[in-house]
Amino acid sequence: MTKVSLPCKSIAWLFVRHTSTGRLQSFACSEHRFPRTIFPFLRTMSTNTTDNQNRGSKKPKETLRHVKSREQRKRGVDVHGPATVYAQVVGAGSRDNGASLYVFSEFNRYLFNCGEGTQRLMQEHKLKAARLDNIFLTRMSWENVGGLSGMILTLKDTGVPEVVLSGPPQLEKYVNAIRVFSGPLEEIKLAVRPYTEKQYTDDTMTVSQIPIFGESMQRYQGHQCPSSRMLSSKGHHFSHFIFISGGKARATRDPSLVVAFVCKLHPKKGNFLVAQAKNLGLPVGTAAIGPLIAALKDGKSVTYEGREIHPEEVCTPTDPGPAFIVVECPSEEFVQPICIHQQLRTEDPAALVVHMSPESVLKTDEYKQWMERFPSTTEHLILNEQVCTVHNVRSHKIQTQLNLIHPEIFPELHSVHLLKETQAALHVPSVRAECLLKFQLRPKIEWQRDAIPSCDTEEFVKEAAEAPNFLQEVEEWRAEKYPEVVFLGTGSALPMKIRNVSGNLVNISATQSVLLDCGEGTFGQLCRHYGDSVDETLAKISTVFISHMHADHHTGLLSLLFQRERALATLGKAFSPIYLIGPVQMMTWLNQYHDHCEEILSHVNIVPSKVLCEGAEVSKFKTKAFIQALLKKSDLAKFQTCPVRHCKNAFACSITHQSGWQLVFSGDTMPCDALVHMGKNATLLIHEATLEDGLEDEAVEKRHSTTSQAIGIGMKMNAEFIMLNHFSQRYAKIPLFSEDFNDRVGISFDHMRIRFGDFRILPRLIPPLKALFAEEIGEMEERRGRRELKQMKGVIAESNEEQRIPNEGETGKGAKREPEEPTQDVGRKRLKTN
Ligand SMILES: [Zn+2]
Ligand SMILES: [Zn+2]
Repeated sequence: MTKVSLPCKSIAWLFVRHTSTGRLQSFACSEHRFPRTIFPFLRTMSTNTTDNQNRGSKKPKETLRHVKSREQRKRGVDVHGPATVYAQVVGAGSRDNGASLYVFSEFNRYLFNCGEGTQRLMQEHKLKAARLDNIFLTRMSWENVGGLSGMILTLKDTGVPEVVLSGPPQLEKYVNAIRVFSGPLEEIKLAVRPYTEKQYTDDTMTVSQIPIFGESMQRYQGHQCPSSRMLSSKGHHFSHFIFISGGKARATRDPSLVVAFVCKLHPKKGNFLVAQAKNLGLPVGTAAIGPLIAALKDGKSVTYEGREIHPEEVCTPTDPGPAFIVVECPSEEFVQPICIHQQLRTEDPAALVVHMSPESVLKTDEYKQWMERFPSTTEHLILNEQVCTVHNVRSHKIQTQLNLIHPEIFPELHSVHLLKETQAALHVPSVRAECLLKFQLRPKIEWQRDAIPSCDTEEFVKEAAEAPNFLQEVEEWRAEKYPEVVFLGTGSALPMKIRNVSGNLVNISATQSVLLDCGEGTFGQLCRHYGDSVDETLAKISTVFISHMHADHHTGLLSLLFQRERALATLGKAFSPIYLIGPVQMMTWLNQYHDHCEEILSHVNIVPSKVLCEGAEVSKFKTKAFIQALLKKSDLAKFQTCPVRHCKNAFACSITHQSGWQLVFSGDTMPCDALVHMGKNATLLIHEATLEDGLEDEAVEKRHSTTSQAIGIGMKMNAEFIMLNHFSQRYAKIPLFSEDFNDRVGISFDHMRIRFGDFRILPRLIPPLKALFAEEIGEMEERRGRRELKQMKGVIAESNEEQRIPNEGETGKGAKREPEEPTQDVGRKRLKTN
């Protein structure tokens, strides 16, 4: 009953592909040590690029074991249906893994549809492709055939001699189309069995192909010609029809056909019951029993020693063989043709109907009624985008584990769930597909869920955590996020809406921070930046450097000290004063505040900036002790200062960590050689860039730097990277860029956080920043244009209709301030001392 010769057109080809080097390579694998483990399959997949030349030296393949046994069965005497058959979901029909179904028997393996990713799922879930001999396709659509070319290559590489493709008439054309990127595939026989060959039988079952024509095709066949390009309900273009004399038409590219498959398992003879046979006196255990068993299992009565034995006495009943149907109804257009189709009516009730149909189809009354016409014993399996299952579990697993190492480089994966659409309410026994869900047809009809993979993120994390040294290594790698610099205030002169005044938090380690300058509102910036963990942040600050006595650099210190005291108390930590490095005038101010306003001196251990200059003598023992303590506390090798060219007692500072990095902070200054000297080869220079290029005179007047001057200092210093800050508030959102910007320069924003690993990225942020603030840049450039024009004309007087801008200093030639700023006059006065 099993041997059916197929009038198939066999086509063989070899796949080759272009590599990135443009060379043609075959997909063929050079090794064929098949198939005791999964590894040959893996190897096949990983050695796809084996050079074409290797093919010549390839060893002849062994005949696959299952092929051998099939041959033996064909020659054998006792032919019987398979003992185990089940259908298993591969792709559940989600957007990323289209519907595909694997059917298993001990004799044959089948695949219904083979979209992209099907092979990958089969490999992951150990559904051996090597055993596949039949691939059924419900429709010529990329969703169904996207993975077919790759699958065929794998089958060839694993030594499968022949594969039969059944379904839509275009399959042959598809196979020909693949040849565009392949050569002859002599090692695998590829047969196409179009739907016109209605029935196919093998060791396991008989499969009937049922063509279903969409309504538009039927209309056409009823001589209502469709326009040559017509949109289906799903938006597909209908094919061009070729008209043939006699009124028949042939579609060259015809989406109006789907093929359904009705699969009927062969009957399985009952089992011979040995104990019963013994009781009845049959010669169990002797040679005589063989013919008796054969006859009984065939349903014949036998007579032994004068006694007639009926088969039902010693055999379980014959299983007539359940049927299952696989049907795709891609759109409403096919609902009616499917529902009225004679062969899909329910005379021979199927145990299972597999619906590859979208929710919109399931919701139609007609389709529902069709489903309801099956008996209540029929189970319905639904594969469509409305499923909720994880297919690629291993990929999720490794990503979850890698994510522990770096959440941005290895972001978490997502699942595509279309749960917005409600599921159709079905009044039949129905199950939504999940990856690897099984429906067993034999020996016992039942759903089996034990193979469905679980995707337990917590379990994956736990498993990774158990790997020796893993968490330690992660911890060490995470430590590399230090140092980081948080820019708390990047504007000059006075606090304004976009940029607050000077404040830079350097987080040296997870437990230690240094604050460079502390303008008014620095604590508020910390609150907004760190939220509820602001107390922890304050508790980590052990050292504050104040560059000079201008208000925009130090008037936030007192609240920082008070809030830090509160934070330490809240956290239950012992209070300790901060090490305050600043000009000696700082002490005068704190003393006076302490004497007349509030107790404050207990909060600080003062180290005058000048004692940290190169070559300075530290006379006081207490100061020496403070310096040693602050270095030790923050793991610093050196904390150095140098006088800069700004106001009296203005200093820059340099922090050198024990691990070698060096961070230099300019404070406010004109271009300064002492700074270059102190910061030679620094890792990071934070330099003020108060004014734009072209305002050099104003910069000299106010003793600040222009953008290009700041960059120039960094280049002279050979700093690995330069961050600009302290921008005049006239550049509220973004400073004006100059020609001197290069790949070692970044600009700072309030609340920006940088790590040393970010240096390569920072310059690349500039084009999008320019795009975001194009309007502001345009206005500033216009202003600059007008200014240059005035300078050219020698016009010094300010134009009457323009308001004066408060700026870093007092004169503000031609400079403007945004008119909506309310604190103009106050600001102007205070700015004189910045
Ligand atoms: Zn200043
Ligand atoms: Zn300043």
